[in-house]
Amino acid sequence: MGKIAGKTVEEWIKNYPLIKQMISTEEVFWTNPKYGTFEEAMKHIYLSEKDVKEAEQRLQRFSSYIAQVFPETKEMNGIIESPTVEIPHMQKKLESKMKKIEGRFLLKCDSHLAISGSIKARGGIYEVLKHAEDLAIEANMLTFNDDYSMINSERFRKFYSQYSIVVGSTGNLGLSIGIMSAKLGFNVTVHMSADAKQWKKDLLRSKGVNVVEHPSDYSKAVEEGRKQAELDPNGYFIDDENSTTLFLGYAVAASRLKKQFDVMDIKVDEEHPLFVYLPCGVGGGPGGVAFGLKLVFKDHVHCFFAEPTHSPCMLLGLLTEQHDKISVQEFGIDNVTDADGLAVGRPSGFVGKTLENLISGVYTVSDEQLYSLLSTLVDTEDIYLEPSALAGVAGPIRLFNDHSGQKYTEDQSVAGKMHNATHLAWATGGSMVPKEVMNAYYQRGLQFQLGK
Ligand SMILES: *Cc1c(COP(=O)(O)O)cnc(C)c1O
Repeated sequence: MGKIAGKTVEEWIKNYPLIKQMISTEEVFWTNPKYGTFEEAMKHIYLSEKDVKEAEQRLQRFSSYIAQVFPETKEMNGIIESPTVEIPHMQKKLESKMKKIEGRFLLKCDSHLAISGSIKARGGIYEVLKHAEDLAIEANMLTFNDDYSMINSERFRKFYSQYSIVVGSTGNLGLSIGIMSAKLGFNVTVHMSADAKQWKKDLLRSKGVNVVEHPSDYSKAVEEGRKQAELDPNGYFIDDENSTTLFLGYAVAASRLKKQFDVMDIKVDEEHPLFVYLPCGVGGGPGGVAFGLKLVFKDHVHCFFAEPTHSPCMLLGLLTEQHDKISVQEFGIDNVTDADGLAVGRPSGFVGKTLENLISGVYTVSDEQLYSLLSTLVDTEDIYLEPSALAGVAGPIRLFNDHSGQKYTEDQSVAGKMHNATHLAWATGGSMVPKEVMNAYYQRGLQFQLGK
């Protein structure tokens, strides 16, 4: 047997017994021994509130353009933001099978974000816009004070057509970046991993995006994309594994959530803890959102990442502290899951290292459980999500039913305050899934319904 980052599998298991369960693709719940206070953690992080504010302002500058070219955003004045809703019937249904979920249960519906129907409409679109702004400013075609709706013109489309944008994706990042780049006039190529759903490729091609299909997994698709971009002097590669721009685009979600909470009269403070459950693939999306949430709510927010049992890459990276030096495949975990948005075998090193003291923990969910939650959410709340997005919905069940979840609330001195808690599952995608595909998911879910 070869070694993985200097150790054999047996040695890794000896140091971290949880790995044994992960290899058997059992569901696990891990709490982070390096979790620390916000103040202490921030001393080691070079990104700050100022960076997130800048991203927020950039999205504001583009809002007049977005409202024009994506009329579905007009009502929100060109700001791409999703609703936050309570899901009390789902909560009741889950409680009928398992322990009570103390506190309120909410859903952050990024599944219904405009333009691309997933969390990627945050980071992905933001990075394309930033690149477009940088190019136009450098060419003296634009200043920060202009009305950016002028970008919706032949002159700008012609200008952007000299440049190309390249990205590697399991599907949704490709959708966001493809749709946005094509709208601006860029030449855009999306390298898709084998997990990518056919309808996502078809949709992109219908918008004039070049789609390159790879028979391999996400990491390989990214590598191919990176290589292609390097060959083109006018090419720009959006690096899902390392991009701070993507990360900051995601982070903007937090201050907007705070405003929604204020309207809904939801408190987050010492007496009212907030638990957020974020589906995690390579880590950029959940990482960026978690970072933003920590800036806004500090020690009163507890962020958990959720991964498929067959793709627990972030958990493996954090647990072993090897981050991107290690992959699930090296441990014999196959990275095969129907949660295509989370089918990633090697995590972002940048995200894992940045958040190593800010993430409360990571749990894994089986595909059967994702499907079961999918159909239960339809039956109870009439909300349709794609399988990946259900990973977050499992969060409160796991926190209350897993021993380590309960221990976490005790260790953090919030166990006695849980009746005041808010649980927010981040529903990361779903509204663009074609009806017949969604129906097949739903039928699948019925077969795995909870408790059956
Ligand atoms: C991409 C994606 C995620 C996770 O985001 P990462 O940045 O890959 O961690 C979660 N859910 C859905 C539906 C996604 O498309």
